[in-house]
Amino acid sequence: ETPLIEVKSLKKFFSVKKGFFGTTRYLHAVDGISFAIRKGETFSLVGESGCGKSTTGRLVTRLLEPNDGTVWFKGQNISHISDNQMRPIRKDMQMVFQDPYASLNPRMKVKDLVAEPLLIHTKLSSKERDKLACELLETVGLNSIHAERYAFEFSGGQRQRIGIARALSVRPSLIVADEPVSALDVSIQSQVLNLLQDLQEEYGLTYLFISHDLSVVEHISDRIGVMYLGSLVETADKDTLYDRPMHPYTQALLSSVPVPDPTLKKERIILKGDLPSPVDPPSGCRFHTRCPSCMEICKQHVPIFREVEPGHEVACHLFDEEC
Ligand code: SF4
Ligand code: MG
Repeated sequence: ETPLIEVKSLKKFFSVKKGFFGTTRYLHAVDGISFAIRKGETFSLVGESGCGKSTTGRLVTRLLEPNDGTVWFKGQNISHISDNQMRPIRKDMQMVFQDPYASLNPRMKVKDLVAEPLLIHTKLSSKERDKLACELLETVGLNSIHAERYAFEFSGGQRQRIGIARALSVRPSLIVADEPVSALDVSIQSQVLNLLQDLQEEYGLTYLFISHDLSVVEHISDRIGVMYLGSLVETADKDTLYDRPMHPYTQALLSSVPVPDPTLKKERIILKGDLPSPVDPPSGCRFHTRCPSCMEICKQHVPIFREVEPGHEVACHLFDEEC
């Protein structure tokens, strides 16, 4: 079956001025990543801030155009198609953002916020849009009487529900959710995550879920990709990644995730040094400056991202095949 989304060797650079003479340098935000997401699946991209996961979300939805590599949506190469060709596809892929307050216009009524994608993408009358907006508010656990109010009157969790209703309004196949619960209290986080899961089941949605926090994505993910400095270092199905992480960076990230049973407490792996600049990434394995298992080869040669067991890919010289 054709994956809903497939990306191959995807790259995005941004030019940055650097130094006294203003020489142009390039920030390698996304540096050749490949993955596929099946219909109905939740694939999560996890990594520290600045690792390129948000840029990947914007490349997949073609809010950004890649410098190199390919994005296929439902089998169609959308990497470089025009805005006009992109319009019907854009309806089919919606985004949910971290801060619903920043992404929702506070001067618009909730019903107009929720129905705005319908105004852009459909020919429904204002009456039909209002009716749908009220139904959508109920779908996300709010009340249709909220339709006449303004976004600023709602709590963070309620605003995220409004953002989700809005994304859902045009019945997309794919929702890219970029840190959708990071701004919320932990108790509210699980409510919103549960809502996203229920909606996925009800509408057959596919999610690309972006988060810096491995503890947030555990319950909703089918598969997870771990990113470091613009590259994927490991992808695996959720259980494999949490039970048998292979990449030293994944192991370090997981060691700081709280475990429910404190007697199982694992040793926390503290990474040395700071995250290097993506403008001047380290040679060889980009993680080598901080890796507890760094070997001589790691400083020279970029490890190849390859499958080490079915469905489990890792980029690390520790798993190079013997010659
Ligand atoms: Fe560490 Fe080397 Fe593996 Fe990179 S390739 S993660 S430096 S062991
Ligand atoms: Mg981000």
